[in-house]
This record gives sequence, structure tokens and C-alpha cells, in this order.
Amino acid sequence: MGYYLKCVCGYPFNDALGYEHQSIIVPRVDAEDVDNSLCEDFKAFFRAIANGRRDTWVREIFPEPYPLDVDDADVLNDLVQRHAFSRSKRLLHCPDCGRIHIQLQHEHSLYRSFVREEPGHPNPQSVEPKH
Ligand SMILES: [Zn+2]
Repeated sequence: MGYYLKCVCGYPFNDALGYEHQSIIVPRVDAEDVDNSLCEDFKAFFRAIANGRRDTWVREIFPEPYPLDVDDADVLNDLVQRHAFSRSKRLLHCPDCGRIHIQLQHEHSLYRSFVREEPGHPNPQSVEPKH
């Protein structure tokens, strides 16, 4: 079964195991752009509805096979998904060893991993502070 990251401890992150240990993060510098472009798309969508161009507008944004007979609320939700996820990165929290893995770039498979620091945490690779 394919996975997109295997933790150092061996835990295999993949979508088949569900999303319980996965989060989506959007960098603050990108969040404002996401908000602005989302607001622009919302305004354009409502303008298109008012002008009787709804389906044409939806088709410009969402190519086939996106259905045109979806509710307006679904279109708005899909716009949110489209904008938010276009800048998002995965944050994976290993349920076995507590490591955090942060995807370095959207749609890329490189991750940076962080080990838990709490004293007494049973992590064989934790390093004692130098001071
Ligand atoms: Zn692990």
C-alpha cells in the first residue's frame, strides 16, 4: 500500500489509515492572499449569478467534469477548498513516537521531522541539551 511518509519509528502515514494524525497548515504569509483571492471569487460568483452567467463562471473556474447543477453553497465550499488547499502543507503527528513531520512545500514529498523534547519521553533518539 502506498504511503507518502514512513516515520523513523516505522509508522506508515497514508490516507488509507485515515486523517486522525494529519493536519493541514497554511502559512500566515499565504493566509492573507488566500483570504483576498477567496473574497474576490465570492464577489465574482455573486456578480455572475446576478448577471445570469452563473454556469459560465463556474465552468471557467472548475473545468469538466465538475457538475453545474450543484448548490451555490457547494460552489462556495469548493472555492474555499481550492484556495486554502492550494497553499497548504501537511503536518503529520506520529501516534507511536510523537514525532512531528512538516511538509516543506505544497504537493512535494519532502518533510522535516521534529522529535518530542519532554523529559522522560521514551524516545531513544532524543538528545540531551548541551547547557
Ligand atoms: Zn514515529
